[in-house]
Amino acid sequence: MKRVMSIATSDSGAGAGIQADLKAFLRCGVYGTTALVAITAQNTVGVRSIFPFPPRVAVDQIEAVVEDIGADAAKTGMLFNAEIISAVAGAVRRLGIPNLVVDPVMVAESGAKLLKDEAVATYKQELFPLAAVITPNINEAFALLGAEVDEGRVREAAAELRSFGSGAVIITGGHTASGADLLYDGERFLEIEGPTYGSENTHGAGCTHSAALASFLARGLGLEEAARRAREVASEAVRYGLGEIGSGAGPVHAL
Ligand code: PLP
Repeated sequence: MKRVMSIATSDSGAGAGIQADLKAFLRCGVYGTTALVAITAQNTVGVRSIFPFPPRVAVDQIEAVVEDIGADAAKTGMLFNAEIISAVAGAVRRLGIPNLVVDPVMVAESGAKLLKDEAVATYKQELFPLAAVITPNINEAFALLGAEVDEGRVREAAAELRSFGSGAVIITGGHTASGADLLYDGERFLEIEGPTYGSENTHGAGCTHSAALASFLARGLGLEEAARRAREVASEAVRYGLGEIGSGAGPVHAL
């Protein structure tokens, strides 16, 4: 079985973060492992507190997993600060982890800040160059560029983000009018349509998408096919989102 590592943060409500990643890995037929970089006290309503670990805690987990179990792909989720991003980038580079998907998580649906402002530069300089693909949503894409969100300039944003050195960029469409994901691989732009369900139970959709994408890359699919399949998994997870769990945005449910 292919092995995929999530390098990310715990969501105690288990809708997003490392818990969503493990559910997506199971759904996508890979063996999931985890390197926890921080813990949030969180439910469907919001994030109460964030407790980051010292960066070496993340590195030790990554090394322990890779040395014994191995990794055919990895995804990064919420990494919170520059020190953690830098340490993760060092470990990924040193260990030669392939098929890295970087989901540059910045702000939760509930509005909570999940990344320190000064960490944006570290993402661009240290982690994006190691990524096969980065998967910001439209808000993250423009925030990474220090610009206002402009749906008319999403292709320009994708091209500019790719200049930091990732193999490709997917700007996910969950927050846009069209709902399509935009893939740019340096040669062409591809709109990946997916059903949108108008569900409010979207907590963890982005995490599920990037975990599914890493899973399909680990399983040997090409980027375009992996992106289509990941979009399907994320859309379905929103469709079956669990409105009865908690009183806020219900968790997605990857069946
Ligand atoms: N909490 C953690 C630990 C996350 O990794 C993420 C997203 O990646 C979120 C919360 C935010 O999830 P959402 O914006 O879907 O509510």
